[in-house]
Amino acid sequence: MSSIESTPSLNFIEQIVENDIKAGKKEVYTRFPPEPNGYLHIGHAKSIALNFGLAQRYGGRTNLRFDDTNPVAEDVEYVDSIQHDVQWLGFAWEGEARYASDYFDQLYEWALVLIKAGKAYVDDSTLEEIRAMRGVPTSPGVESPYRNRSVEENLDLFERMKNGEFPEGARILRAKVDMTSPNMHMRDPIMYRILHKEHHRTGDKWKIYPMYDWAHGQCDAIERITHSVCTLEFEVHRPLYDWFLDQLDEFDPRPRQIEFARLNMSYTVMSKRRLLQLVNEGIVNGWDDPRMPTISGMRRRGYTAAAIRNFAERIGIARRENVIDLGLLEFSVREDLNKIAPRYMGILDPLKVVITNYPEGAGEEVELENNPEDPEAGHRKVPFTREVWIERGDFKEDPPSPKKWFRLGPDRMVRLKGAYIVHCHDFVKDPATGEVTELHCTYLPESRSGNDTSGLKVKGTLDWLSVDHALKAEVRQYDRLFMDPDPAGHKDKDFKEFLNPDSLNIIPNAFVEPALKGAEPLFHCQFLRKGYYCVDPDSTEDHLVFNQTVTLRDNWAKENSEA
Ligand code: ATP
Ligand code: MG
Repeated sequence: MSSIESTPSLNFIEQIVENDIKAGKKEVYTRFPPEPNGYLHIGHAKSIALNFGLAQRYGGRTNLRFDDTNPVAEDVEYVDSIQHDVQWLGFAWEGEARYASDYFDQLYEWALVLIKAGKAYVDDSTLEEIRAMRGVPTSPGVESPYRNRSVEENLDLFERMKNGEFPEGARILRAKVDMTSPNMHMRDPIMYRILHKEHHRTGDKWKIYPMYDWAHGQCDAIERITHSVCTLEFEVHRPLYDWFLDQLDEFDPRPRQIEFARLNMSYTVMSKRRLLQLVNEGIVNGWDDPRMPTISGMRRRGYTAAAIRNFAERIGIARRENVIDLGLLEFSVREDLNKIAPRYMGILDPLKVVITNYPEGAGEEVELENNPEDPEAGHRKVPFTREVWIERGDFKEDPPSPKKWFRLGPDRMVRLKGAYIVHCHDFVKDPATGEVTELHCTYLPESRSGNDTSGLKVKGTLDWLSVDHALKAEVRQYDRLFMDPDPAGHKDKDFKEFLNPDSLNIIPNAFVEPALKGAEPLFHCQFLRKGYYCVDPDSTEDHLVFNQTVTLRDNWAKENSEA
């Protein structure tokens, strides 16, 4: 399986960083800059792992900086969830969380510097006019009639914009760069717009808000960020990032923007705008719905932080867009849980077995291994009685030949895991529905696991639970949320047309081992032969709820090793 092992060689960003260090850069200082307008998703996890990982590798630091320049869509709920998610992933930022809004005063001062240098001007044109004058990349744009206003007039108008004297949309501040540039971002980009909106941190202090391009690089410079890593769509913004820095100062260290390919994953939508739609339209039960590709959703589903970090490491970073198989993430989850999750028995679709030669009212305890992958995990005791639940699918009234069917059927034998060999001699059917309602078996007292003198060899081993002791549990089974590998990639179709109607399947009356009583939310376990599960926060003392995290079957690894 060499294809999924991470390579020890440097990725292209590490190469850049090492060259910078050789050239005299003294520290590696990165930042993770989320906009607090939604919950973080697995794409952000990649960016977090990259930014924090880079600093860790070179003994540097990483800031968490909220890019809170747009008060319309932003909210403290998102600020809190983002901090929690970054910490949960296992990363610690330098000092307090920071906010672009912490620097609004400095950004304003710097805007004045640009105006005074004749490098920025107030434009009274409407947005439509500005768009029209900007033109198309193949031919030069048209200069605004306001482009050559005097410095005094610009200073006066800009101050009055700040003071709230003009309505939204009346004026903007633009950088005076180059209306003939083939790079549209250089055609006098907007630095400030008027917004009469309350900001979740600065209240009503500001009537103007900086645009991303103006805020981002300058915030990097203020925080002494050395490597400002972002996704590829910002590559065309880089000349502007550098232009703004050039106008202001000889920054040392001077921040440097480096772009990498964003994470795209099959069967997944990743933009916050679309995820917000799923939440607002009630298609999922909130941002942390276990079907969501959000960090909070994956946590609730039972994905571990280590699995997500390993996934990020495994996919590496690239300079070209690609799509990662969702199965690779599941592979990483399975790999981690296999090591850490204790094993239990759980029966999702119960069928009763009566062991007719086992004394009524009697019982005993059998011992089962907690985790064969973990020698430290020890053993647990499981009660065994005359009546047990097995999985309905483990019995066939008319099974194929014994060479193909190792489970139960009339006159067939199996071992109940850790207990006895049982032989099915009869079964009861509901005359109305034809459904099998009960199996009658005998057990071989001399076949007890660990002390089996029966001399019999049976191929099948079934999981089971004592009817008298099993705990009832609700189990939520999941399938992928979308049926199309690229739900957002169809020009003529809305991504919601590809929703999987069977993505959630609730089993209200499953059974689990009594030892799971009182299991805390986010407790991970494996239900033998089924998959990994995790206690949902909806769980209470008398109503256990499990989320299916991932199945045991590992199609991804199989397909990729056969190839
Ligand atoms: P979305 O497009 O999902 O709304 P965004 O880019 O607007 O995301 P931000 O909050 O601005 O979200 O992103 C914070 C950081 O995370 C940015 O540096 C951004 O480049 C990075 N990021 C966002 N999505 C991905 C992704 N799919 N893969 C890698 N990095 C990402
Ligand atoms: Mg963004």
